[in-house]
This record gives sequence, C-alpha cells and structure tokens, in this order.
Amino acid sequence: MITLSNIHKSFGKQEVLKGIDLTVEQGDVVAILGPSGSGKTTLLRCVNFLERADEGKVQINGVGVDCRHARKHDIVQIRRKTAMVFQHYNLFKHKTVLDNVTEGMIIAQKMSKTDARARALRVLEQVGLSEKINEYPSMLSGGQQQRVGIARALALNPEVILFDEPTSALDPELVGEVLSVIRSIAQEGITMIVVTHEMGFAREVANRVVFMEGGHVVEQGTPEEIFLRPKQERTRQFLSRYS
Ligand code: ATP
Repeated sequence: MITLSNIHKSFGKQEVLKGIDLTVEQGDVVAILGPSGSGKTTLLRCVNFLERADEGKVQINGVGVDCRHARKHDIVQIRRKTAMVFQHYNLFKHKTVLDNVTEGMIIAQKMSKTDARARALRVLEQVGLSEKINEYPSMLSGGQQQRVGIARALALNPEVILFDEPTSALDPELVGEVLSVIRSIAQEGITMIVVTHEMGFAREVANRVVFMEGGHVVEQGTPEEIFLRPKQERTRQFLSRYS
C-alpha cells in the first residue's frame, strides 16, 4: 500500500501542492487527472523523491519517510520500490534498446549481466520489441521508444510504476500502441499511478480516478463515480471539456 500524507510542495513562492492525502492499494491502477498546472506531475515526482516535498510523509509498503527529514538512505529505499515512465522517455541515446533496459538492473540492483539480459529479453518481448533489441533509440518511433521506457521500468520489478503522461509526447496514431501495453501490464496486477490526459484510458483501465486542481485533490472515486456521477462542480466542468 502507498500512503501520501499531507504533501506540500512549493517552487519559490508558488505553492504547487497544498496538502495532498492519497492512498493507493496493492494492485490499484490510479489515474490522476486535472488541468494543466494542477500539480499532477509534481505529486508523482514527490512519490519517488525526484522532487522532495517540503512537508508530508511518503509510505510505500512498510517503508515510511518524512519528506522534510529524509536522508539519502531513506530515499534510496523508496526509489528501490518504484520505477518511473517519463513523458519524454528519457532513454540513453548512445545505448541500444537492450542496454537501456539492462542498465538499471546492473547498476542499481547489482544484477549479473547474464541475469539482467535474460530479464530484459522477457520484458522487451512483453512490450513487443523483441525485434529491436540491438537498435538505438533514434531508430525507433516515439511509441517504440516509450515501450522501451516501459520495459525498463518493468525490468526493475518495482512495487509501483509511476507513469508521467506517458503518451502526451506521442503523435496521435502512436498513442494506442502504448496505451495497450500499459493496459496489458495493468491486467497483471502491478500497482500503477498514471498521470494522464487520456480520459478513455482512465475510464477503462484505472480502478481509481483522482481529480486534482490547484494543488488539491478535489475528488476521487471509481471511474463510474468520477465520469458518470461527479460530486464536485469543478470535476464536472473539467470532464465536460473532453466529452
Ligand atoms: P501538466 O498537465 O501541464 O503537465 P501538471 O498538473 O502536471 O501540469 P506540474 O507539472 O506539476 O503540473 O506543475 C505545477 C506547477 O508547478 C506549474 O505552474 C509549473 O510551472 C510549476 N513547476 C513544476 N516544476 C517546477 C520546477 N522544477 N521549478 C519551478 N516551477 C515548477
């Protein structure tokens, strides 16, 4: 289980997160929705300390860290439990697809090269890239590059995968292939938090939807509750733009 308690984050004078409480159960697929600038990405980055919250607590499966006082060791422990899929893939351009996927296992997890390669081949097959293992990112489409990003996250066998707008840098015709890979992973029961503007995806794949605005969680519930019976006017207004 993941529990975020009273997460606050400011950049200079701008308070971006204003006391976020959120609980994610094992196996949940949580979609975080909200207008641009509402703090979705910042919240996701506070979970694995890519940003350090100014206040609040992050707990992941028994490891709890007070954000303000977290030490390097605490942060390493939290990071080991998470993997992130970035909007712009963040692949190593000078490494092959296979090496992009094995890197984290060898460096961060100290896995042997042989074991890392075997696992990388499995996850690359899972995302449909077995044919591309020796190619470089620049030779791949955006959708394929993002599937490498997903394979790299899966390879780490994390307790939660954090997706930061995984399809928003893609040409529209490439969005579907990436969403279908994420959907198939979700069906395996991996806990996921997905920041997304893809309403259809949130509706179909997530089992919990969180609507954020202005650094607050305005409303959360099942996809039915949020999409069909939103309680808050602000949620209704936001969703009406997509229908
Ligand atoms: P979008 O849907 O457009 O990605 P978002 O809801 O994910 O938006 P964030 O990216 O979390 O929003 O940004 C929230 C606010 O924090 C924005 O005003 C943004 O400019 C600001 N912000 C985010 N990161 C930083 C940073 N590193 N330094 C300064 N300001 C930042």
